[in-house]
Amino acid sequence: MHELPAVRSLVTAVVRAAGGRRVRAVDVVIREPSDVAEEAVRLYFELLGRQTPAEGATLRLRREPATCDACGHTFGAREAPPVACPRCGRPVYGGGAGGLWVESIEVVEEP
Ligand SMILES: [Zn+2]
Repeated sequence: MHELPAVRSLVTAVVRAAGGRRVRAVDVVIREPSDVAEEAVRLYFELLGRQTPAEGATLRLRREPATCDACGHTFGAREAPPVACPRCGRPVYGGGAGGLWVESIEVVEEP
């Protein structure tokens, strides 16, 4: 399952950002082109988050369409990069890490 390394990086980034505080929720953007399966991301996030401050955190996922750098066209692309832009045919590359980006995290502020 190719989502595993991407989610491992994600959990590492979340734990680092939390700075030792418990994580309540994480907003993650799947930037297309990306073929990651949301169910797999959720499963691995739960598994890899165990015994970390991210354990039990709510994972909110949303997909963001791909944007062609050459012509600016945006389009849905649920496949691994590079994909051809449907308007101009130029290759569109993903941002790496399976297209997973941490947008924000909510932590529990303990007194
Ligand atoms: Zn294009």
